[in-house]
Amino acid sequence: MSALEFNTSKEFAHELDARDPLASYRQRFLIPKDSSGKEWTYLCGHSLGLQPKATCQYVNEELEDWARYAVEAHFRGRHPWMPYHHFLTEQLAGIVGASNEEVVAMNSLTVNLHLMMVSFYRPTRQRHKILIERGAFPSDQYAIKSQLRFHGFDPATSLLEATPRAGGSCLRQEEIENLIEREGDSIALVLFGGVNYATGQAFDLQRITRAGHNKGCIVGFDLAHAAGNVSLRLHDWGPDFAVWCTYKYLNGGPGSIAGCFVHERHRTSDLPRFAGWWGHNDQVRFKMGPNFEPTPGAEGWQISNPSILALAALRASLDIFHEAGMDRLREKSVQLTSYLEFLLQERRSNKFFQITPTDPERRGAQISIRIPKNGKTVCDALAKGGIIADWREPDIFRVAPVPLYNSYADVFRFVQSFASSLP
Ligand SMILES: *Cc1c(COP(=O)(O)O)cnc(C)c1O
Repeated sequence: MSALEFNTSKEFAHELDARDPLASYRQRFLIPKDSSGKEWTYLCGHSLGLQPKATCQYVNEELEDWARYAVEAHFRGRHPWMPYHHFLTEQLAGIVGASNEEVVAMNSLTVNLHLMMVSFYRPTRQRHKILIERGAFPSDQYAIKSQLRFHGFDPATSLLEATPRAGGSCLRQEEIENLIEREGDSIALVLFGGVNYATGQAFDLQRITRAGHNKGCIVGFDLAHAAGNVSLRLHDWGPDFAVWCTYKYLNGGPGSIAGCFVHERHRTSDLPRFAGWWGHNDQVRFKMGPNFEPTPGAEGWQISNPSILALAALRASLDIFHEAGMDRLREKSVQLTSYLEFLLQERRSNKFFQITPTDPERRGAQISIRIPKNGKTVCDALAKGGIIADWREPDIFRVAPVPLYNSYADVFRFVQSFASSLP
C-alpha cells in the first residue's frame, strides 16, 4: 500500500490493524500501563525494547537449573550452559544475514567495538585514519578516539567525519563514497553506523563496504540501531566486522548481551586479539593448556564465559523474531513507518520538520522530528499522557513504531496527541 492509499480516519487505523498478519505478536509482550490500567503508547523501542512475556520463563529455567544442578548445569539440564551461546547462533545469524560461524553473542556493544578495533584497526604512518559519520553515537566517538590515542595518533588529524552538505541532516551516498575515494589511501578503518541513532538514516552498507574495500580499507559497522530493524546481509555485503547491542530493537533487556560479526574471510585470522579462555578452541578448552588456540570464526573473539541469564533473556526474544521472520517484520515496518510519516505530513506546519529520509529504503522503524521551539515540553506532555517516545537535545524527537508490538492505532494516537501538544 502506498501513502496515496492511506487516509486520516481513526477507522482506517483499526482497519490496518485488523488486516495486519503480525498483529497478534503484540500479545507476546508486556506493555506498561498507567495507573488507570490503560496501556502506554510505547514508541521507544529504539532505546529499550519491551519485555517479551516469555523472558521470565526462559530466565527462570536457568535459575531452576542452577538451583537443581549447580555446577553440573554446565553439562545437564534443558539447555546446558557450556554450549549455551550456541542456542542463539542460528537466530542471531538470521537477524544480520550471516553464517553461523560468523556471529557470536558476547559482552556489550562498546566492549565488542573495542575488541574488534584491537584486531582490525592496525594503523600505519601512511594509513591511520578512521572514518565515521558525523554525529555518530557518543560512545562510539569516545571508543574510537581512545583507540586512536592508544596507537599514538591524534583524533584531530586521524579522525575523519563524513559531514552532510551545509544545511542537511543526512548524508548523501555520493558524499560518503567521494570522501572514501579522496582520502581512502590514508584510511585504515571505515566505521559506520547501520542506522544513525539521531536522524534515523539507514546507510547503504553494501556500497560503503565496496567503496572502502576498493581503497584497501577495513570496513566495520555498528548496527545498534539496525539489528532487528532493517534487512541485513552481512555475509554477502562483506564488511570485515560488525557489532550491535540487543536491548533496542532486539528486546534482550536492559544492558543485555551484545552481538558480534566477523566475516568468514577472517575465520582463522592471525590478527592480534585480546584473548580469553572462552575464545579458545572449545574442543580442548578444559585441557587448560597454556597456549591460546582460537576457535575458528567469531567465537574465537570471546573472552569470558557469558552471563547465562542474559543469554536466556535474549533467546526468548530471538525465538519470537525467528517465528515472525525478519522479512515479514520489515515489510510491516515499512508500512507502519510510512503511515506515521503520512499522518505527520497531513499535519505539517512550520513547528516541526521530519529529518529522517523519506525513502523507506534509507530508514528503519523511526521518524526523527526536529522541533525548533519547546520540543522538550511536547515530549514531556506526551509522556504524562502515557505516550512514550524519546527526546534528544537540542531539538530532536525520535519516534519508533516497532512492527513486533506497535499497532497502527498506536501511531494514530501518537500523531493526534503530538499535533495537539505543539505550542
Ligand atoms: C545504544 C548505542 C550504544 C550503547 O553502547 P553500550 O556499550 O551498549 O552501552 C553504542 N553505540 C551506538 C551506535 C548505540 O546506538
